[in-house]
Amino acid sequence: MSLPVASDTPTGFPAFVEVAVLPAIPGKDVLTYRVPDRHRETVRPGMRVLVPLGRRHETGLVVALTGTPPAAAPERVRDLEDLLDTEPILTEELFALCRWAARYYVTTLTEVLATALPGGLRASTTRVVRLADPAPPGGARGSLEAAILATLGARGALDERRLARALGRPGVGPALRALADRKLVVVEERIRPPAGATRFEAVLTLGAALAERDAADLARRAPAQHALYERLRAAGGRLAAGTMTPRERVAAAALVRRGLAARAREERYRDARPPVDAAAAPPVLTAEQQAVMAAVPEAPAFRGFLLHGVTGSGKTEVYLRLAARAVAAGRSALLLVPEIALTHQLVRRVQERFGARVALLHSALAPGERWDEWRRILRGEAVVVVGTRSAVFAPLARLGVVIVDEEHDAAYKQDEGLRYQGRDLALVRAKLAGVPAVLGSATPSVESYHQAASGRFTRLALPTRVEGRPLPTVEIVDLRARDRTDSRLFSRRLLETAAGALARREQVLLFLNRRGFAPIMQCVACGEPTGCPSCTVSLTWHQRRNVLLCHHCGFTRPPAARCGACGSGELVALGEGTEQVEAEVVRLFPEARIARLDRDTIGSKGAHRRILDAWREGALDVLIGTQMVAKGHDVPGVTVVGVLLADVALNLPDFRAGERAFQLLTQVAGRAGRGSAPGRVIVQTYRPEHHSLVAAAAHDFEGFAARELAMRAEVGYPPFERLAVLRLEGADAAATEDAAQALAAAATRAAAGRARVRGPAPAPLERLRGRWRWQIMLTTPSAAALNDALRRALAAWRGSPRARAIRLVVDVDPVSML
Ligand SMILES: [Zn+2]
Ligand SMILES: [Zn+2]
Repeated sequence: MSLPVASDTPTGFPAFVEVAVLPAIPGKDVLTYRVPDRHRETVRPGMRVLVPLGRRHETGLVVALTGTPPAAAPERVRDLEDLLDTEPILTEELFALCRWAARYYVTTLTEVLATALPGGLRASTTRVVRLADPAPPGGARGSLEAAILATLGARGALDERRLARALGRPGVGPALRALADRKLVVVEERIRPPAGATRFEAVLTLGAALAERDAADLARRAPAQHALYERLRAAGGRLAAGTMTPRERVAAAALVRRGLAARAREERYRDARPPVDAAAAPPVLTAEQQAVMAAVPEAPAFRGFLLHGVTGSGKTEVYLRLAARAVAAGRSALLLVPEIALTHQLVRRVQERFGARVALLHSALAPGERWDEWRRILRGEAVVVVGTRSAVFAPLARLGVVIVDEEHDAAYKQDEGLRYQGRDLALVRAKLAGVPAVLGSATPSVESYHQAASGRFTRLALPTRVEGRPLPTVEIVDLRARDRTDSRLFSRRLLETAAGALARREQVLLFLNRRGFAPIMQCVACGEPTGCPSCTVSLTWHQRRNVLLCHHCGFTRPPAARCGACGSGELVALGEGTEQVEAEVVRLFPEARIARLDRDTIGSKGAHRRILDAWREGALDVLIGTQMVAKGHDVPGVTVVGVLLADVALNLPDFRAGERAFQLLTQVAGRAGRGSAPGRVIVQTYRPEHHSLVAAAAHDFEGFAARELAMRAEVGYPPFERLAVLRLEGADAAATEDAAQALAAAATRAAAGRARVRGPAPAPLERLRGRWRWQIMLTTPSAAALNDALRRALAAWRGSPRARAIRLVVDVDPVSML
């Protein structure tokens, strides 16, 4: 064995690079590649490279330069194939954030990078096969080889995948290799560019200047050329070829020949941002808003702030001012929102204020749009980034402030792949950059509230609504003792309040956090509900589509007339969903203009926005919806909010159910009374004494948080204990349970008394998409002890043969306990 390269090359350039090869392979991290001489001067961390992996080529990201090959098997290090970037696409600060996340979430740097980078950045290679020409002697051996040669003969060169499809087979690799060895076919590798490649356009630019006399001469002898030359000058010396008429294109060629113009290829961004007009002058800040601004330091230094502002108190204006202050100081601002679709009012205001300097990052962008936004940020053209949780990885330089709106929202937690919490990573990012982080909410999470109460965050408050509008009055209606009306869904109180508002031409918002017509179809003979064949949940009846639908896996079936379990009983619909509320409103208020907003009604693109626009403009009298109606929109005509059944949120098998219910009720109640007329909220429930409802009705966040924290302290849940869940999912019930027992034993050994291990126990959703689910919970007050225990338990698990058949999900700081 001989190694050609010593610790450093004579020129001092890196001999090797560590590369995160994408997509990430579970458990496998960075690989080392040798840098060919031609790339040694240019390769830098943060650049994409094309590297060989097995028999393919894949895209990787250079994470480090090194002078030495790996200690193990250095002779197997291969050369990287090519550089795909001329500049790094990831900043040093982002690498630090990704390394932190890999450590904290007990995963590989590669997996974090695969999550952080915009999708569609991977170039890949494909193998193209053609018949050798001339054909060598000898022919096919066997029918598959004959079929391959015949197909290539008929259709010409094909990539390997298409060839396999043409032959109706999953793969043709071995047969192709055999044919290639005998020189009957030629296999070539070709690069397929990434889905989100940079887009270029042809432009005409201004060449030599034209003296006045020559211009007059040109106008006389070649008027078309002269006209184009003038148009080019008027356009600032740059015209996209796509905007020219055929005649102009002929003239352009002549101008280029004369040296008066030149052709070029320029990058063009796809514009993913809807156009908005510049805003009128920003409003004058209230005294409370000014106090908040004064409390957040202008000089960059890390500090966490919890901005607790009641609904309608003007938090958004504070965010805009904080961002503006950072931009004025030559810095950038990161603003995270839970969901773009639900916050487009806020997004619009940011755009009105910052115009083209805003970049939007969210999951609805096409890969190319995302890549363009990424580059605008990287180049400093966009200095204010608004985005959902993955925007925490936006490549902003010179960060000035980090803002997280609705910090309590569960949407910040990614619940598949890398299960990171965007709000928490935003705090880490602010800390790494040494800048303030402001977490805002009308209903802070009890975790953040606890951080503020214990002095780790600074608490800021906006306790009153702007223009002194009162908070809505909230009334709880006990459904156990209600006055019977002829409606199954409406108490007399809600019915009369809604009727009164509609008579005054005010708007009524009705909230029920359950879609469909009825959540349960139950047999009258045996009592069995119609369940999903793959999940332990009952199917929801959707009347309009006339199907029974599983809200977890999407399974549908037509509603049966008779029970499937006993074969004889009739099925009755139990409970209610938004579809039923809509039908009831149509019956009760036939004159009213009604719309429903839930996942079933926003199927077509833009439907969500159209409904909310109509609502805002007053073209609707009643809006019915799930939690989609609870936040983000500020409609002055709404005076009554009806919560049809608050119990839906209270009854989830999750230690945060009470907190979610409080947040949801406060948010939805906050939709009432945004205009000059005061708001009224009617909450219907069978549990009127529940502390979440009582506190929400009294607008008593402090009282709620104190009670909730006392309960969490008692049972050892966050924020008093760190929590992680290990979830096992397998197709076989016994094997999954068996694996859970073994992993729990390994976790107990790994915890070594420093973390408590609870379980294994079946997950509340014991079966999901046909897989059995078990979970093990680890709790400890120490984040370090938790991380250490998880690391050891995972090492033991990876060495076990069970790891092949059973999927293990590691969820640090879980949000959903289902
Ligand atoms: Zn039955
Ligand atoms: Zn299902």
